[in-house]
Amino acid sequence: MLNRQPLRVVIAAPRGFCAGVDRAIQIVELALERFGAPVYVRHEIVHNRFVVERLRDLGAVFVDELDEVPDDRPVVFSAHGVPKSVPAAAQDRSLTYVDATCPLVSKVHRQAQRLIEEGRHILFIGHSGHPEVIGTFGQVPEGSMTLVETVENVADIDIADEVNLAFLTQTTLSVDDTAAIVSALKSRFPSIRAPRSEDICYATSNRQAAVKAIAAECDRMLVIGAPNSSNSLRLAEVAERLGVPARLIERAADIDWEWLGQPETVGITAGASAPEVLVREVVDALRTRFDVTEEEAGHSPERMIFKLPRELVSDRAA
Ligand code: SF4
Repeated sequence: MLNRQPLRVVIAAPRGFCAGVDRAIQIVELALERFGAPVYVRHEIVHNRFVVERLRDLGAVFVDELDEVPDDRPVVFSAHGVPKSVPAAAQDRSLTYVDATCPLVSKVHRQAQRLIEEGRHILFIGHSGHPEVIGTFGQVPEGSMTLVETVENVADIDIADEVNLAFLTQTTLSVDDTAAIVSALKSRFPSIRAPRSEDICYATSNRQAAVKAIAAECDRMLVIGAPNSSNSLRLAEVAERLGVPARLIERAADIDWEWLGQPETVGITAGASAPEVLVREVVDALRTRFDVTEEEAGHSPERMIFKLPRELVSDRAA
């Protein structure tokens, strides 16, 4: 106990909850207040087991598909966005639904629709199977959007009209990988239309920049986030690429102490869907084995706040 090795813990900033996740969680909480339990939620509201379990304890019921929702109960759509067919099916059944899609994902949806109206084919940079990608593909007619996952994919794109092209991206990608794919697209299709503003969201890029800022000081990096959380996976990748061995963990119990070894400095960050309480839990776990000195990296605070849906706040505003 007395001979614990000193350990410097550098906590990246910003980290953890973004405005879209915060809003989505509040939507479920407000829906529970407004309608009472149970409130159904299609898919994990955000990719974090801790968040999902807390909401489940409050009365949320998580389902994979709309047909699992009874006619007389409200349903919330997750922050990742849904194909157009989902709210349409809810309307057909006269279900009460609240859309918790992050406004920055909805912005990409609107851009996709506009580009299709202009007669363009969209090359969409993203990860196959991710709910956000499924939701965005579901905004446009089948066949009008092609998924591009890697720089290598660019050479294989087979499109008849190479002039009327545009690209969009998933919001939670690696800033560096996406820049490389965009550069390959622009060099193969010089007239391709770029989005008016960056689709990778502020939270994703700020969290990646925060990892880059502390990586040089760290011997190991712990990234708190779910294995299916795209932005969390990217944070671990960023650290690894800078030569810092990194592990994605859901919470303190997942720390592999053998892998961690006896480092001088450990970096900690958290994906956009991971609550701060899990960061504290990891620091506390480190304190049980090391003599920890904790510091937080300096940063400019994020000021993004998204409005809540009117139907859930109208009484409060009155
Ligand atoms: S990570 Fe970005 S796009 Fe996703 S919910 Fe947060 S702010 Fe919205």
